[in-house]
Amino acid sequence: MNAPLTYLDGFGRCTGGRAEVRGPVAPEALGELLAARPARGLLARGTGCSYGDAAQNTGGLVLAPATPAEITVDAGGGTVRASGSATFRQILARTVPRGLLLPVLPGTARLTLGGAVAADVHGKNQRTDGSLAAWLDSVELLDGTGRVRFLTPDQEEFRATVGGMGLTGVVLAATVRLIPITGTRLAVSSRRAGDLEALLAELDGARSRYGVAWIDTTAGGAALGRGVVDLADHLDEPDELAYAEEPGPRAPRLPFAPFTPLTARAFNTLWYRRAPRERTGTQSLGTFFHRLDAVRDWNRALGPRGFLQYQFAVPDGRHAVLAEVLTQLQRAGGAPFLGTVKRFGPGSGCPLSFPLPGWSLAVDLPAGGPRLHAVLDRLDRRVAEAGGRIYLAKDARLGRAAFDAMYGPLADWRAARARLDPDDTMRSDLGRRLGLCR
Ligand SMILES: Cc1cc2nc3c(=O)[nH]c(=O)nc-3n(C[C@H](O)[C@H](O)[C@H](O)COP(=O)(O)OP(=O)(O)OC[C@H]3O[C@@H](n4cnc5c(N)ncnc54)[C@H](O)[C@@H]3O)c2cc1C
Repeated sequence: MNAPLTYLDGFGRCTGGRAEVRGPVAPEALGELLAARPARGLLARGTGCSYGDAAQNTGGLVLAPATPAEITVDAGGGTVRASGSATFRQILARTVPRGLLLPVLPGTARLTLGGAVAADVHGKNQRTDGSLAAWLDSVELLDGTGRVRFLTPDQEEFRATVGGMGLTGVVLAATVRLIPITGTRLAVSSRRAGDLEALLAELDGARSRYGVAWIDTTAGGAALGRGVVDLADHLDEPDELAYAEEPGPRAPRLPFAPFTPLTARAFNTLWYRRAPRERTGTQSLGTFFHRLDAVRDWNRALGPRGFLQYQFAVPDGRHAVLAEVLTQLQRAGGAPFLGTVKRFGPGSGCPLSFPLPGWSLAVDLPAGGPRLHAVLDRLDRRVAEAGGRIYLAKDARLGRAAFDAMYGPLADWRAARARLDPDDTMRSDLGRRLGLCR
């Protein structure tokens, strides 16, 4: 009898497919499963926070979660060793009371460490602290043949796995260096910027550890790219060290897409006008880093067709592409409703990692029809021509030619993957779409 298939999609809910889902599986049994080379391939999945099809293996096997969650904090050494299936929320609950913080915090704490390694995630401190790769002591990988590998940053196999979108094996565990904190509050200063130039100048001149800007994706003309810049640092004074999960209200599942060009504009205008010109204060870890987690399942409230996030990075000197993308998305009637800009510093050197020295813009917009996709295809070419790239963890639609132009022939990555997974067992929908696996 065939195993039942489960429908899996991404956070944007605009891609989806059915797969056989298993897990958690003990590492030894997992080794045997891989060694048996499942016919339609296998993929580890975390909590499905990637926006597109990165965590799908339609028609094949998906491990979700791959292994039981285990966390060991070495408070003296300032590190945590956690299994790939442990979530950031679970890890923070163990490290924060000991005055230790994960060094890279993406915009949600729901993700797993395995998903974070696979995407080489970055936070609001990428410019100052790099992405996760810079903080990993080791990655324990069950490779595509079922063999356990202990990978360290000096190895090509490590660099292929960090950012490798799950296509080199299953991350069993990783050891991350932590940063010491004396409390959980941050000093945050917010300042409104009237246009893109002012906003980028504010981020560029910042000397704080964390920096991010919300951008009004709907403003045009002289106000194009206006927004609010948030800069933050940890407070020095001792404070309560606690990290509690704060489950907020659940968003309703709407039968229609709430964002149209009109409502997206109204929402963004209101948000911009309500922001004070300048404000300083303190915020908790949860408020500063994981604001979007306050409303559970907000991605389900964006209509039955789901939504896309277009996140790209362009090198220093090519920031004009940000203005171009905003203008083109507005002209396409795409109803972009949420935008975020980050200043990036040097990348990690992992071939499939996203950050590069320059600028990143992420725009959320309802998943549209062929017209929107044609505009996005054109924008992909502009990003590639500028020497930039799309973030694979957010991507649901990039074509192979544009991907090749952005990430190059990837000879080192492909050679390392061939050593780790010679039979092409690790597979995903994203990998197939981009020519990274069969
Ligand atoms: C609200 C929100 C905000 C976000 N903000 C940011 C941000 O600021 N910065 C940023 O970098 N990212 C951000 N992300 C993206 C997110 O960090 C990445 O998509 C991350 O990979 C999700 O992890 P996950 O555990 O949900 O993995 P999934 O989405 O389930 O999987 C993602 C990839 O990881 C692989 N994977 C998962 N577990 C394993 C494992 N054990 N072994 C091997 N491979 C594995 C999968 O095969 C897949 O390729 C955000 C996402 C959301 C929803």
